Amino acid sequence: MIVLKFGGTSVGTAANLANVKRIVEGLDSPAVVVVSALGGLTDMLIATAKMAASGNQEYLKEMEAISLRHHNIVSDVIKPGAGLSTLAKIDPLLQDLKRLYDGVCLIGDLPERTLCQIVSLGERMSSIIVADMIEGASHHDSLQFIKTEKWYDRNIAATELTTELIQAEFTSDTKYPVVVGGFIATDKNTGEITNLGRGGSDYTAALIAAALDAEVLQIWTDVDGFLTSDPRIIPEAHVVPRMSFVESMDLCTYGAKVIYPPTIYPVFHKNIPIRILNTFHPEVEGTYIADSCEFKGIQRNDIAGISSLKGTSLFSLRGRLIANEQNVHSRAVNALSCQGISILLMTQSPEETLFSFAIDSRNSERAVRLLKEEFAPELVERDLEVIEVTDRLATLAVVGDGIRNIPEISNIIIDILELQGIKVLAMSDKASETTVSFVIYEDSVHEALSTLHTQFFTNDK
Ligand code: ASP
Ligand code: MG
Repeated sequence: MIVLKFGGTSVGTAANLANVKRIVEGLDSPAVVVVSALGGLTDMLIATAKMAASGNQEYLKEMEAISLRHHNIVSDVIKPGAGLSTLAKIDPLLQDLKRLYDGVCLIGDLPERTLCQIVSLGERMSSIIVADMIEGASHHDSLQFIKTEKWYDRNIAATELTTELIQAEFTSDTKYPVVVGGFIATDKNTGEITNLGRGGSDYTAALIAAALDAEVLQIWTDVDGFLTSDPRIIPEAHVVPRMSFVESMDLCTYGAKVIYPPTIYPVFHKNIPIRILNTFHPEVEGTYIADSCEFKGIQRNDIAGISSLKGTSLFSLRGRLIANEQNVHSRAVNALSCQGISILLMTQSPEETLFSFAIDSRNSERAVRLLKEEFAPELVERDLEVIEVTDRLATLAVVGDGIRNIPEISNIIIDILELQGIKVLAMSDKASETTVSFVIYEDSVHEALSTLHTQFFTNDK
């Protein structure tokens, strides 16, 4: 059993879908195929919903365009004659979409649950089209077996229930290949339509691969694999043939857009390898992601890649309390993580009166509020003096299982960057054996990446 996931670009046009068809029809093992919505459609569904909610009648034209795009794809990829039965499944969904937009326009509001219903239609339609396009394929409805639950104000995967439901759904009677929509889900208590978050189709595929003990999870995308850095910034970035789970997880957490970060956990726990492949160059080997012990004895660069995340804010807490009370770190981390705010890196100054950490700037205002609540008594007593926030920063991460072989790696990075006049504002304390992360000003990201890439990859092939 293998699980394949095709992203939006791969299923975005009739020409691209022809590649998907060829790849899936050429497989010789049973497969579950997970697809995204047609490329760019999720953004368009959201933008149109906002238009309708604001009373802008242009939404009707957008709705027409969405409808036409699906009709055209059906007539281009489905055999003459069979197209009518595909349209008989797609048209009611397009009518639902139109009704939802009309409703949103009428009430002038876009409730979260309505938006979830609207965006779900992208994957619901694309998966039906792909299933009908592939010879002998059957369609299964992921709304029935991918379940979420509320975690504070977010929907997260209800993994245990989802695993059970997937195992019940795919039995010895199942007709493979199966095609399912990624990203979409339903709430385990209310049954309302939800989703796994933007980019979540990868995660759907990983949950299915783990539940079915797949041999491999193939992520088919529009690049040749996991690259040493972002190729739009570093043109000489090249494919990394092998990468450990931990390396890929860290690179994605720090901005590499190859896989949706939560994707790696379910397959990592089951030790199911991931292969990143290019739908447009299926002959290219891509990147093989597996447990690091599989790579013992294989010659590899110590560093796997360098990634960057713009929109970082650096928080600094200063005062007596930092030196006196051991649990300032854990209190701060807890106060934020309970509200779904994760910390990118943290560091304490040698003189121990300054504790700094970096988070995504979109959470910055909320974080200030939460910290003020958490440390209210200490702020009054002046045991904690200030909570300082610096914006317009970026977090960079140098990632590699071999980092532990490079003594003084943090100092090396600081020296290299300082020679270029790039200031490192904070550097992670040695929290991870695989990753060194640090914060710089956002406008020096380009230069920092290119300097570090030259340093670490010049002799690498
Ligand atoms: N269609 C969804 C998105 O654009 C999910 C995905 O493509 O993974 O975010
Ligand atoms: Mg994606």
